This record gives sequence, structure tokens and C-alpha cells, in this order.
Amino acid sequence: EKANRLKSEFLASMSHELRTPLYTILGFTELLVEEAEGRLNPKQKRFLGHILQDSQHLLQMINEVLNRSKIESGRLDLQLEPLDFNSCVEEAMTAIRPHSEARSIRLENRNTFRGPLQADRVRLKEILNNLLGHAMKFTPDGGSVWLESLALDGFLQVSVCDTGIGIPPEEHEAIFEKFYQVGDTARRVREDTGLGLSIIQKLVELHGGKIRLESQRGQGSRFIFTLALKKDGHDQS
Ligand code: ADP
Repeated sequence: EKANRLKSEFLASMSHELRTPLYTILGFTELLVEEAEGRLNPKQKRFLGHILQDSQHLLQMINEVLNRSKIESGRLDLQLEPLDFNSCVEEAMTAIRPHSEARSIRLENRNTFRGPLQADRVRLKEILNNLLGHAMKFTPDGGSVWLESLALDGFLQVSVCDTGIGIPPEEHEAIFEKFYQVGDTARRVREDTGLGLSIIQKLVELHGGKIRLESQRGQGSRFIFTLALKKDGHDQS
């Protein structure tokens, strides 16, 4: 247990330290891409595009390791505040709309919930970005990705749905384990950490909710999570 705790602490501090130089790389690359310091030729733009894309990917992976080690050492705390759920959904969708348009994927916000919600804004955005990002990644061009919601018995139930490749029922439990990737898709996503859904599950639980999956191979996926609408419903343990 002690070794495990030390490992989590080491990973947390290392990933924190790795982010600092990475922010410098990202920030200066963005400045160059904006051509604020002079025009670039097409080849230079393409090269910088690769640097930007891979740095963003690296940042996402470092954040996942950091989050996972915080979870393991019990240091992931929520900053709860009243927020507008619908605008969080809109922000998450705006970020991926250029990709959905480029791939002719119909992206729809079917959320109908307009009441108040006590949640951690940053963490809620992580949940939405992760589920919508996966839905996009595993849906072929021309498909659909949407979010819908239902307020029920003191909980907000949110579904993130896609018409993509789907997940066979025998994988539905294991998929939330850390480092787990579905057999068929493992080859195409091997550059990812396999940590995403294990983190999302914990973030949902910290909000007093649960997450589950409805899917069949080849028939799309529906990730359903709940968030407690009342503050005393939160499991902060
Ligand atoms: P990763 O870092 O690989 O994305 P996750 O824990 O976030 O790890 O996801 C685990 C696996 O679940 C993914 O590798 C993928 O195989 C599968 N998966 C997640 N979302 C979907 C989806 N919407 N459609 C099909 N497969 C999915």
C-alpha cells in the first residue's frame, strides 16, 4: 500500500512538472500558427499543425495520468458551484463541431434540462468532452452523435449517443476499468491511455451519480450517466 501511494504521488508530481514545458510548446506554436510574427509557407504551416496536434494529445494523456493518480491517492476534490448545464453542453459541442462538419457527422444538443445544477464545471466539461469525443471517434463519417437528458427522482440523467461501431455486451463492465480498451478497437486507439472511462466513472460518482452503457456491436452506443440534483446527494468520500 505504501509503495502504491508513493507511486501515485510520484506520477502526480511528474505529470504536473511535465505540463509546464508543454504549455510553453503549445503557447508558442499557437502564436506561430496565428502568423502573428510573420507569414508562413504551406509546408511550415503543415509542420506546425503536426506539432500542435501531438502536443495537445500529449497534454491530454498527461492530464489523464495526473487525474488517475489523484484519484488513487484520494486527492481529487470537486469545486461545486451552481451552473447552467445547457451552456456546458453547448461549449463542449462547439469545440468538436469543426470535426463533425468535416466528417458530415450530425451533432445535436437535445438537452431539455434548464434548471439549476450543482456541479464542478471543469470536471463536468471533462465528462462531456470525453464522452462526446469517443462518440465522434468511433462513429463513421455520415453518422450521428447527440446528447439528451431527463430529470428524474432528484437526478439529472444524461445520455451521450452515437450511431457508431458499438460495444459488445460482454465488454460493458470491463470498459470502465483502467487501461482497458476493446479488443477490436485497441489497434486503432493504441495511442490512447485506456484511462479515460475509469476517470469519467469516478468523476460521475463524486457528483453522486452512476454511469452505464447500452450498446450492441455495430448498433451504436449510448453512455448514460446521472448527476445528483440535490447537494446532499453527493458522495464526497
Ligand atoms: P481510451 O484512452 O482508449 O479512450 P477509455 O477508457 O476512455 O480509454 O475507453 C476504453 C475503450 O472504450 C476505448 O478504447 C474504446 O475501445 C471503447 N469506447 C469508448 N467509447 C466508445 C464509443 N462511443 N463507441 C465505441 N467504443 C467506445
